Amino acid sequence: MVTTHNLGFPRIGARRELKFALEAYWKGESSREELIKIGSKLRQRHWEQQAALDLIPVGDFAFYDQVLDMSFILGNLPERARGYHGDALDNYFRVARGRSAPGIEDHGACCSGVQAGEMTKWFDTNYHYIVPEFTTETAFSLDASRLLDQMNQAVELGVKVKPVLIGPVTYLWLGKAKDDSDKLALLERLLPVYAQLLDALAVAGAEWIQIDEPILVTELGDDWRHAMSLTYHRLSGCRAKLLLATYFGQLQENLHLASTLPVAGLHVDAVNAQDEVATLVDLLPAHKVLSLGVINGRNIWKTDLGSVLDWLEPLHDRLGDRLWLAPSCSLLHVPVDLASESKLDPEIRSWLAFAVQKLDELKCLASALTQGREAVLDELSDNRAAIISRQSSVRVNNPTVKTALTELDPKMGTRKSPFRIRKARQSTLLNLPVFPTTTIGSFPQTSVIRHARRQFKAGELDGEGYKDAMRAEIVRCVREQEALDLDVLVHGEAERNDMVEYFGEQLDGYAFSQFGWVQSYGSRCVKPPILFGDISRSRPMTIDWITYAQSLTDKPMKGMLTGPVTILNWSFVRDDQPRSVTCRQLALAIRAEVLDLEQAGVHIIQIDEAALREGLPLRKSQWNAYLKWAVEAFRIAANGVADETQIHTHMCYSEFNDIMPAIADMDADVITIETSRSDMELLDAFDEFQYPNEIGPGVYDIHSPNIPSQEHIVQLMNKAAERIPKDRLWVNPDCGLKTRQWEEVIPALRNMVAAAKVLREMA
Ligand code: GLN
Ligand code: ZN
Repeated sequence: MVTTHNLGFPRIGARRELKFALEAYWKGESSREELIKIGSKLRQRHWEQQAALDLIPVGDFAFYDQVLDMSFILGNLPERARGYHGDALDNYFRVARGRSAPGIEDHGACCSGVQAGEMTKWFDTNYHYIVPEFTTETAFSLDASRLLDQMNQAVELGVKVKPVLIGPVTYLWLGKAKDDSDKLALLERLLPVYAQLLDALAVAGAEWIQIDEPILVTELGDDWRHAMSLTYHRLSGCRAKLLLATYFGQLQENLHLASTLPVAGLHVDAVNAQDEVATLVDLLPAHKVLSLGVINGRNIWKTDLGSVLDWLEPLHDRLGDRLWLAPSCSLLHVPVDLASESKLDPEIRSWLAFAVQKLDELKCLASALTQGREAVLDELSDNRAAIISRQSSVRVNNPTVKTALTELDPKMGTRKSPFRIRKARQSTLLNLPVFPTTTIGSFPQTSVIRHARRQFKAGELDGEGYKDAMRAEIVRCVREQEALDLDVLVHGEAERNDMVEYFGEQLDGYAFSQFGWVQSYGSRCVKPPILFGDISRSRPMTIDWITYAQSLTDKPMKGMLTGPVTILNWSFVRDDQPRSVTCRQLALAIRAEVLDLEQAGVHIIQIDEAALREGLPLRKSQWNAYLKWAVEAFRIAANGVADETQIHTHMCYSEFNDIMPAIADMDADVITIETSRSDMELLDAFDEFQYPNEIGPGVYDIHSPNIPSQEHIVQLMNKAAERIPKDRLWVNPDCGLKTRQWEEVIPALRNMVAAAKVLREMA
């Protein structure tokens, strides 16, 4: 027998039921009982969808975030969130969001909002978790009530339960010591609570417990490696069998450690670390289970079952019952069910597998191993047909694009003259004041805009009608910016639903799902477009909008594009060629758009790379290779223009220290960044590196409805000027304004422009 199991299932629901239930509860439109009922229904449905597996995860469900759940289980709530009345669930939301539901907050001053927990990316995924907080004082105490309720629900339903937990070492590693103390010192206090938890789960019916230690695929110091071994020796006496799970990459130098820890089984990511499996099989003691994550839990493509079987069969001969099969990681990172996608092109659809389909693949592999391939002949041959259809499809393979790629000349990524010369030429052409003001691109996406777009998509508004509606917004946006006396204007991005989807929709090689939502954080989901084929641009994508906007004003209008690296990082991308190649194809498409904009008389072009940092590999040793092709792609996209054309880029994050050389290498004439919350200290990195080009440090946080004062902006810019010469500074907000209201945007920008004028007088 080959045991099949799953590491985690998407909890948001095929129709995002959890999202809507949460948001209704938070708005006070539904009761806590209602929310709890929907949660329990979703769990039941998801267990049913996994019923064919031998072991099914319990505890992968969370109302907000599985790491926050772990913090509650361990009794590790930040001090500021303690002592409130109300239900534990409300306190949970308080930590997650800074507030609970309206009816709950009305208790009075004591309950009116606490600072929300910090959020950060879960390894290299687009999922964000609530960072556990520690101090030297942190004490732990077990509160497994919610997890045990879920266990009981599952056991009652006859589910073959396997509780899943974040392991103690990864839990500490994910958190932040608020007082800069040594997090690892807490391990001694943490382990007894984990021991109690494991026993409680065993009592509740768990034979196996999955304990996740994904940090084993990262570069760990000796102290962390030691902690890992100490932990599992301590926990080895627990009543249940432990399956230690690693995912998202290779074990490399931690391989020996992982295979010798005293647990009953080890799960590895056999997609990313397939090469390590042979060594593991040799190293693993004969009593241990080896779970191979053979189905990719991070993409939406069908698995090539035949070739996986070719590889698995000899392993199965060697391991016998000790071989388990699973997806590579939790399926949290893929959409739920392809069956919902009735509008997707049937050919493309035949190449895809969402969570439910991935589990079918898993079952098929297990049957082929235990009963022989004959037992699943039809499934295997359907799969084979889909794999071949995808490999040979003319929609995937475009010879023109492939030729263009081979003809790529590195000179294409280099500007004609160095920055100093470009700066002089641009300044003659543009004639901007010192401390020029601009915005990052988008203006409020009003309900009027969204309504028009919905009507257009539903066929209730024709192309001309939609264009008129968007043009009316552009007129408004330009008039407002002129009235504010901004120096470099934008058209406002009214016509864009999303900065990646907008370009994807116009590029060949992209497809779009209707329900392909993936949880990003809390109730928020994203629906990444599907990049399935060679990328080409059949016609200009932005020229009409930008030239129309330019025709309305004498001030310079900034063209607005999304960069190749960001388009790549925010899409589901093909797995049949390296990401670097796909990125280069995107770069050529964006380059063509840049050159068309220039041709159309647009002198300033911004290419957003909001997600460049996100693509950094988990292991630092692989950063340079990524940055090399990512920066090269940006340069190909941006640098074909004349000296007089000013290239801007925008990045909305606040960590540059460790990637400074790459940022400088992009050679954008102007970079706008997020700085307001770091009090301009972030500019130290640019200062120390002697970053040579111009910088627009964001002067106010667009995530907040607060209106920044003129004095505060002057103060911030003076701080900026201590680090960067004045003639290289721009004045702009942190990021785009699409999520704000006009009533907030106008006074904020008015103060920003007034501040710039004060700064000019002081200069
Ligand atoms: N130009 C985009 C906007 O203004 C940039 C968004 C982003 O950086 N995430 O909305
Ligand atoms: Zn941004």
